[in-house]
Amino acid sequence: MIVMKFGGTSVESATAIDRVCGIVRERLAQTPVVVVSAMAKITDQLVAMGRAAGQGDSAAALELARAARQRHHHTARELLDPQPSDELEAEIDQTFNALDELLKGIAAVGELTPRTTDYLLSFGERLSSRMVAAAFALRGVNAQHVDSREVLITDSAHTKAVPQMDETTDRLIGRVRPLLEQGKVPVMGGFIGATREGVTSTLGRGGSDFSAAIFGAGLDAERIEIWTDVDGMMTTDPKLCPEALRIKEISFEEAAELAYFGARVLHPATLLPAIEKNIPVLVLNSRNPANQGTRITSRGVPCKSVFKAIAAKKRITIVDVVAARMLMAHGFLRSIFEVFDRHRCPVDVVSTSEVSVSLTVDSNEAIPAIAADMRDVADVKYEGRKAIVCLVGDNLRGTPGIAARVFTAIQDINVRMISQGASEINITFVIEEDDVPEVIRRLHACFFADPDPDVFARQ
Ligand code: ADP
Ligand code: ASP
Ligand code: MG
Repeated sequence: MIVMKFGGTSVESATAIDRVCGIVRERLAQTPVVVVSAMAKITDQLVAMGRAAGQGDSAAALELARAARQRHHHTARELLDPQPSDELEAEIDQTFNALDELLKGIAAVGELTPRTTDYLLSFGERLSSRMVAAAFALRGVNAQHVDSREVLITDSAHTKAVPQMDETTDRLIGRVRPLLEQGKVPVMGGFIGATREGVTSTLGRGGSDFSAAIFGAGLDAERIEIWTDVDGMMTTDPKLCPEALRIKEISFEEAAELAYFGARVLHPATLLPAIEKNIPVLVLNSRNPANQGTRITSRGVPCKSVFKAIAAKKRITIVDVVAARMLMAHGFLRSIFEVFDRHRCPVDVVSTSEVSVSLTVDSNEAIPAIAADMRDVADVKYEGRKAIVCLVGDNLRGTPGIAARVFTAIQDINVRMISQGASEINITFVIEEDDVPEVIRRLHACFFADPDPDVFARQ
């Protein structure tokens, strides 16, 4: 069997969902499980509704919900034309009625907790998966909708819940595998799950890719396909640099590093379940299904170029921690990292000197509390609007002089921190967020002027 995940743009309209049906129909012989994201922009709109309601502005929240309701109805009608489904229409209405009630409730209490946020954001995938299942059925695909919250079991760390693989695998085998044996195509929402107690949870933004990999690992899939709006994993974000090339094949290790450092095409956790079970992951374009996309496998790929790709991750904060006493005492680093850990604040890049440690974190929400916790041992300063740039490639191992080439290409740019990871397959550094487009374009021009045709393709 295979898992096929379609992202927001792949299910953004009736035309897009129709294309998805065609793609799935071509692969029926391979026994697909289909995972879908919310329609494009819907999760962002749910976030905006929650924010408005949380500030007590229920009128604004309900207006956004009304527009989303209309879009779903419109898409459903177009999809099912000429056989409108009263059942689907009623389902959409009931779901949006529940959403309205939820928003009024949030506005009444004037507070949006992580647990309620997860419930709110789950509406997007719940709706899209119902619509896609109905569209499949009308097009002769024997689809069966499955509520992911009955299958993907997580802990209760709302908004970034951690999947519980053993229980999820049991549920997959108990509920999803029998459908496959009956020749049905299960259609499930990505991104959402539930705790053991049945409380709705989410895996974090962009998490549908991760859902697909979790389902693939639990069902021992032959392959996990991530269908999106670009031709595959590219040498850099094609939106930042139109010269970006398609990577035909890349290793798990390289792709994981790129995903972690900002290549949004894959959620950073996606490859973990796939690596565990050694399942190939393909990144494919639902608007251009004939293209071969990118194949991500455990195989190292021989490549004449040093780097496979460049990623950038914005909205980074640099935190400088200066030891209160002149020298860093024994145990100082440990005590610092313990504080970050306690606040569940992951640290990406670290550099130390004799008296200070600089590190980067994804968000600065927790920093004031972290600084307060460190008051007795250190002074903490922080600065936002930074970005991490990361160049990745297996060949970095054992090729001397590469760092010099990288930093010569951007010598007039202010580089704040530099690190070459222990994995030895990346060079990572921190710059001002506004410098990202220029830095990416220059580095791309420098390292991909003469790409290895065995690994990279212009289309
Ligand atoms: P989906 O909704 O299908 O999950 P996303 O928007 O999450 O799609 O991810 C696809 C987008 O990722 C692309 O449109 C592209 O702009 C961006 N992206 C960033 N880095 C890369 C990269 N290295 N290769 C391909 N796409 C990338
Ligand atoms: N719909 C969710 C999001 O926008 C999950 C996903 O698309 O992967 O974050
Ligand atoms: Mg995505």
